[in-house]
Amino acid sequence: MARGEKLGCWSLTEPGSGSDASAAHTTAVLEGDTWRLDGVKAFVTNGHYADLGVVMAVTDKARGKHGLSAFIIEKGTAGFRPGKKEKKLGLRASDTAELLLESCRVPRSHCLGRPHEGFIDCLKVLDRGRIGIAALAVGIAQGAFEAASAYARVRKQFGQPIGAFQAIQWKIADMATEIDAARLLTYRAAVLADRGERITLEASKAKLFASEAALRATGEAVQVFGGYGFVRDYPVEKYYRDVRLCAIGEGTSEIQRMVIGREIIGRTS
Ligand SMILES: Cc1cc2nc3c(=O)[nH]c(=O)nc-3n(C[C@H](O)[C@H](O)[C@H](O)COP(=O)(O)OP(=O)(O)OC[C@H]3O[C@@H](n4cnc5c(N)ncnc54)[C@H](O)[C@@H]3O)c2cc1C
Repeated sequence: MARGEKLGCWSLTEPGSGSDASAAHTTAVLEGDTWRLDGVKAFVTNGHYADLGVVMAVTDKARGKHGLSAFIIEKGTAGFRPGKKEKKLGLRASDTAELLLESCRVPRSHCLGRPHEGFIDCLKVLDRGRIGIAALAVGIAQGAFEAASAYARVRKQFGQPIGAFQAIQWKIADMATEIDAARLLTYRAAVLADRGERITLEASKAKLFASEAALRATGEAVQVFGGYGFVRDYPVEKYYRDVRLCAIGEGTSEIQRMVIGREIIGRTS
């Protein structure tokens, strides 16, 4: 995968278990030298195309979040197949699918990391993934900002470019300022990650702010384009749709605020 020769997917979410990973139902039971996995995973990016997946399953229900383990499952393994392909609001070029596990057997060695501690590893994966989502949000917002700035220079109403109106300038100014702030938060988290430091707080702040700033920026870009922002002749309607995922995937904005609050105040329960 690191050489770019194989495509992977990572599967934590289930139909009944999104923000709360401890509600997972997919099970993995050790039978002799093989694990048998059963369950349904949801919203898996690359689900139809991945050569292999890392799939989270419950190995000890009584231990809640600390009873999850990660399993490597290769495409073509009996009892492992993609299910429904999701029809989405945005990011339609990216595949999102169910994964179905029906008495799927993998060798004992395919349990990745320490058994039952998969959730701890998930948190580390999510910390780094959140920087990726923040960067994605910054990029989409930058695209919307550039399109809106260019359009504001050429679109004329009342005999002058709309960019001459203070109302439009303020939108552009807010976009530019928030995108800069989002980019800097993202770089800070990325630099700390590269140094091998703990990044839970910084990654969540970057993800939360960048994705919400990008929602605002893409919304304002549509507004700058007026009716032309609502049709497909220009790219901003796509940016507006695509960026919505950034406030949902790898932990919603609400979950980021929970993580940030807990990192600052500490767990109260
Ligand atoms: C396009 C796409 C790609 C994805 N790719 C992957 C993938 O590759 N692998 C994977 O495992 N998952 C993937 N996901 C799943 C994604 O991570 C989840 O959708 C997300 O974590 C939210 O879970 P949920 O959809 O079940 O929402 P829910 O958890 O049901 O949340 C519903 C609402 O309740 C709020 N909420 C929940 N709990 C709390 C709380 N304690 N306090 C306050 N508010 C709360 C949420 O913030 C949200 O607003 C993908 C999703 C999408 C849409």
